[in-house]
Amino acid sequence: MIKANDPGLQSWIEVPANSDFPIQNLPFGVGALTSLLHNGQGEILSIGGDLAEVDLGGPVTIIGNTVISLEALQAIGYLSSLNLPEGVFSTQYLNEFIELGKPVWRALRDRLSEIFRKDNPELRDDKEARKKCLFNVADVQMLMPVKIGDYTDFYSSKEHATNVGTMFRDPKNALLPNWLHLPVAYHGRASSVIVSGQNFHRPKGQMTPPNTETPVFGPTKALDIELETAFIIGKSTELGQSVSTKDAEDHIFGMVLFNDWSARDIQRWEYVPLGPFLAKNFASTISPWIVTLDALEPFRVKAPEQQTPVLPYLQHAPGNTAVDINLEVYLQPENTDALKICTSNYKYMYWTMDQQLAHHTVNGCNINVGDMMASGTISGPTPDSFGSLLEITWGGANPIKFPNGTERKYLQDGDTVIIKGYAKNDNVRIGFGEAKAKVLPAL
Ligand code: CA
Repeated sequence: MIKANDPGLQSWIEVPANSDFPIQNLPFGVGALTSLLHNGQGEILSIGGDLAEVDLGGPVTIIGNTVISLEALQAIGYLSSLNLPEGVFSTQYLNEFIELGKPVWRALRDRLSEIFRKDNPELRDDKEARKKCLFNVADVQMLMPVKIGDYTDFYSSKEHATNVGTMFRDPKNALLPNWLHLPVAYHGRASSVIVSGQNFHRPKGQMTPPNTETPVFGPTKALDIELETAFIIGKSTELGQSVSTKDAEDHIFGMVLFNDWSARDIQRWEYVPLGPFLAKNFASTISPWIVTLDALEPFRVKAPEQQTPVLPYLQHAPGNTAVDINLEVYLQPENTDALKICTSNYKYMYWTMDQQLAHHTVNGCNINVGDMMASGTISGPTPDSFGSLLEITWGGANPIKFPNGTERKYLQDGDTVIIKGYAKNDNVRIGFGEAKAKVLPAL
């Protein structure tokens, strides 16, 4: 068993009931003190270069509501037993640390687990050191955790692909012939992946009004969400090299929540024949904490059975290749209470992360540390588990109704969407925090 996952462990840092971040989680992110980031007008400033000179700005982990600076822990010597390269946490992104590989990620989580367990006085009883290492989460702005090189979006939920195919094509042939044989995907845009809390403007583009084929230009009238997760590459490959399903998880650092905002009217007009382009690449929101696959190990479950045989390179050894992660989506129009509009689970995914990565690299496509691979919309079997407004409202036929009478088919300006996720068993709850952003009017 992974030492840091011991469900019996307790921390000397207080962990509120139902916290996403018990000592068994120890996710990784990048944070900076809010007071250092704001210019007084509520705008976030870039954290720039001189990170070592500020109190907190760089790689962090979290227990309960306490953010822990990895740079400070290393500087004071608490991580010396790990022989990490000097300055590995004096950076704006986690990439350098991730490059060190899975045995190092595991050793760091084990060491953090040791430093913060209830009966260990080494930091607990050193008030001066605590002041340098520990910060209240309310004082910390979470930033983009990794420098993303490339971003790929899969299309791996059978329920989602069936729903979309039923609405747009033919219920009898909802899945295209390739769907059961390979994890369909497209190359997305890394530059517009943003972190939770950063709002974005409604995109504009070409769209065709109903029953016309001549496009008009304007702000999208059909702004949608896509409930997804993403995994982050932790080990690079060389051009020409492929990753097997067996080795895939050595190449995966961890997972985040992911909202693939989508403009359906722009998408409908542009997507043939090469797939989504401007309908998707204006913004994608991730949660700031990367939960390691190690922390998710106790929540492994069997993936749905694939009744159509797959080619050998996509086959799995028997085992628990899926993860049981509860997912929720909340919609909050301005001046209205948030309403839960979807309850889904990552375990419904037809194609696993291992298969996605094996497929992505089978042609020799190289991957780099920090690359992000999103799952595709995660819809479950029932209408309350559908992961997009397109499916929840069934193309607008059944609007979402709020208790105060507000209705939504697609998102309006001022709407905030929050995705939450957590894995839970009788002993431990490992959460992801949230991926949250508000739709601002088109510029
Ligand atoms: Ca998507």
